[in-house]
Amino acid sequence: MKKACKNCRAFVTGDVCKNCNSTDISDNSKGRITIIDAENSEIAKKLNIKKKGEYAIRT
Ligand SMILES: [Zn+2]
Repeated sequence: MKKACKNCRAFVTGDVCKNCNSTDISDNSKGRITIIDAENSEIAKKLNIKKKGEYAIRT
C-alpha cells in the first residue's frame, strides 16, 4: 500500500509530504492518477490538484 498525503494527494515515501510539508499522511491510498496539464484537466480540478505529477485518487 502506498502512502499518500491527505492534504494534496501526492505520494509520500516518508512521514512528511515533500509537496506541501504536511504530516497528515494516509497509508491506505487507493488508485493512482497522473496529471500532466493540471490547469486544463477536469479531473485535476475535481481533486483540487494544481501541479502536474502522480496523485492518489483516494486517501
Ligand atoms: Zn501534501
